[in-house]
Amino acid sequence: MKRALSFPKIAGINIYIHWTFSILIIWIIYSNLRAGLTAMQVGWSVIFILSLFLCVTLHELGHALAARRYGILTKDITLYPIGGVARLEKMPEKPQQELIVALAGPAVNFLITLLLIPVLLNFTWDIDDNAKVLIIGPTNFLPMLGILNVWLALFNLIPAFPMDGGRVLRALLAMRMDRVKATQIAAGIGKLLAFGFVVTGFYLNPFLIFIGLFIILGANAEEQMVKTQALLVDLKAKDALMTNYLVLDKLLPISHAVKLLLDGQAKSFLITENNQPYGVISSNDIVRGIKEFGEEDTLDHITQTNLTYVDTDAPLSDVFSELKKSKSPMVLVTSHGQLMGIIDAENLAELILVNDARKSAHI
Ligand SMILES: [Zn+2]
Repeated sequence: MKRALSFPKIAGINIYIHWTFSILIIWIIYSNLRAGLTAMQVGWSVIFILSLFLCVTLHELGHALAARRYGILTKDITLYPIGGVARLEKMPEKPQQELIVALAGPAVNFLITLLLIPVLLNFTWDIDDNAKVLIIGPTNFLPMLGILNVWLALFNLIPAFPMDGGRVLRALLAMRMDRVKATQIAAGIGKLLAFGFVVTGFYLNPFLIFIGLFIILGANAEEQMVKTQALLVDLKAKDALMTNYLVLDKLLPISHAVKLLLDGQAKSFLITENNQPYGVISSNDIVRGIKEFGEEDTLDHITQTNLTYVDTDAPLSDVFSELKKSKSPMVLVTSHGQLMGIIDAENLAELILVNDARKSAHI
């Protein structure tokens, strides 16, 4: 099970809460009770965390709605204990657009604080140094929410991937240079910062080490993705077209696919119904099928029926993101409605490696 709760759509976007979120709530209840708080005080803490995550959701909706202005849809928003993630179809590649989309999230948090300024101005801070945990109640609820929204905005603006600030920095750089170079510089600055976090973390707070490592991973992933897209930029779907692939009817037994899998190189198959494309299966589906249904059952039980079609003239970088997004082992390539062939994830990965080697050889 990946997700625990799903809410009614907001602005047409599905919002999910990841099941690990419940661990956060349990941890808050546990630590508050251990610190000797009353049930009422614990209740306020839980409501406070939920409100904070409502602000995180609004932050993600900020990104999503800004992206929609540029015709980019958002698949869903998932809330994790460490924050929210809006799954945009893609990031806009025009620097000005990426800048607006990246800033839209933190802007929402600043706006929330701005709305809470009257409450903040009327509030006198009375901090009890002996308290083991911060006690939230009706009097400090809104002021604390205002303060934490500033923190949320500033944390997200740290100029390092995967934070929004990393995208802001890349967009600003990309206005003066090409996107790959801009990404490399932005990722480099992010990693330098991450290194600083890790070192200070050893002296101050281990949590900083965690943030530093999180940034290093994010920077590497972003660098790799942009580099890959750049390698594919001049190529079209037809350049990676495979016309030799295996087709199986959906009513054949799973054992048939097992035999082909063990006999040859193919790792995925196109499944048809009355000679028309019906779906695809990967080696993982076959393994799962043997366990769940047995080898005598038919292929239609293990077929992924969400087929993805691309045109022969589609940029290969789009095909690459389609494959990643759909998690399907292959996409079908058509021209004027006619099936021309397929592109599978493994072949595309090989093509990327070969092109990378070719480009390096020129330097
Ligand atoms: Zn954000």
